[in-house]
Amino acid sequence: MSVRVRFAPSPTGFVHIGSLRTALYNYLFAKRNGGTYVLRVEDTDRTRLVDGAIENMLQAMRWAGVESDEGVVLDKDGNVTQKGEFGPYIQSERLDIYKEHIQTLLDEGKAYHCFCSKERLDQVREEQKAKGLTPKYDGHCRHLSKEEVQKKIDAGESYVIRLKLPENYVIKFHDLVRGDMEFNTDDQDDQVLIKADGFPTYHFAVVVDDHLMKITHIIRGEEWVSSTPKHVYLYEAFGWDKPEFVHLPNILNTEKKKLSKRHGDVAVEDFKRKGYIPEALVNYVALVGWSPEDNQEIFSMKELDEKFSIERVSKSGGVFDVEKLKWVNQHYMKDADDEYLAKAAIPYLVDAGLVDTIGVNEGSDGEAEVKDEDFEYIKKMIHVIKNKIQVIDEINDLAPIFFGEELKLESEDAREFLNMEHIPLLAQALKDKIEQAEQFNSENNQKILKSIQKEHGIKGKNLFMGTRVLLTGMMHGPEIPDTMEVLGKELCVKRIESAISQRG
Ligand code: GLU
Repeated sequence: MSVRVRFAPSPTGFVHIGSLRTALYNYLFAKRNGGTYVLRVEDTDRTRLVDGAIENMLQAMRWAGVESDEGVVLDKDGNVTQKGEFGPYIQSERLDIYKEHIQTLLDEGKAYHCFCSKERLDQVREEQKAKGLTPKYDGHCRHLSKEEVQKKIDAGESYVIRLKLPENYVIKFHDLVRGDMEFNTDDQDDQVLIKADGFPTYHFAVVVDDHLMKITHIIRGEEWVSSTPKHVYLYEAFGWDKPEFVHLPNILNTEKKKLSKRHGDVAVEDFKRKGYIPEALVNYVALVGWSPEDNQEIFSMKELDEKFSIERVSKSGGVFDVEKLKWVNQHYMKDADDEYLAKAAIPYLVDAGLVDTIGVNEGSDGEAEVKDEDFEYIKKMIHVIKNKIQVIDEINDLAPIFFGEELKLESEDAREFLNMEHIPLLAQALKDKIEQAEQFNSENNQKILKSIQKEHGIKGKNLFMGTRVLLTGMMHGPEIPDTMEVLGKELCVKRIESAISQRG
């Protein structure tokens, strides 16, 4: 039987880093086993619907390179569509299927109508709590006769449909990460399967869909372990084969608490906006909860495909450390696409007042737009500094040196350097050579520095740091010949003049 896995997000408006990891592990497991990765949208909680959430989620997945083979997908123009023979893949479009299946359970006495009001349920819960019992449904409507049920329905009473769990029955399943698990039905609730609005609950829809979509392995977050006995019992009630279960460890922050929005960035979109490289995010997220056989830390998607295995997924929570992610990101920066990084840099440059915006683009991200010539300049700048920063959101550590005619000295040390004796000679030589240069590119700029060394005997730190201070006001920074090329002749000359005028 061929492997079929699924990622089944509820469209909430943003993609948590934990969802990206669940999707990624499903994707990798499918690839590794020559299987199929399905994406199903679980939108039965009508109170949590967010406009555009499905599209946004699929865009984030496309960006991360974790796209599904089947189910809800984006077509090449970026429109949401569905693909595959087990559709529809959006739960709100499958209501007839759930109706048919709940009828089977009702007919077989494995589910029942419950007419209890919210007030009654609250009261029961309070009483149970007062007695020190675990609150659960007290079975009030379990034994209503067919006629009584019909009468209430005809009278227009609101109802839900619950699962009828047998008493003192042990539900067993095997989790590929956690091993054998056992739960007694006496500790379980008669779970609501169909809500008062006629929509199925997650628990019911997930089982029906996983079965009908021929899912072989359910790989999902640890928060669903306690729901799994209910699901397993449903498989038994229908007489269906159970899939394999894999529950992934929670993602924790560096204080070992569950990673939540309160602790800063947790959404894939946040990292995208900050200019993280998708391959870096995926690489790092793969390691939160899974450890490769050796201590390798940098993985391309292809390598992850080859090396990922469920056996090496850990039981205990994986720590998501942004500092580590930045470190991984830095590895990918030097080969990253300049255009992508430049786009991500725009909001930071606009905020810092370095570049003017000409409005907001109409794309889905609604980011600030700049003039074409400014964009070209930003791209050139990024190319030169991308191996000096870990993430684009650090762009303003270096970007200011590329803007403005006036030289801004970064520190007292830089001022001292500027006041050194050899600086006027260096400044004059540089200015002359820059003005005379026919081609002002990195290669020739390198030659300019060499010729100054030869002709004036200024060398080493005096030459390199001196030139850097004269041009950028900084003691350290990106390669000087590259920086000169980006600045261009005119700006270089203006900076040198500004520098000299600031000598004390
Ligand atoms: N819709 C559930 C979620 O949002 C899916 C849980 C599962 O994979 O079974 O996480």
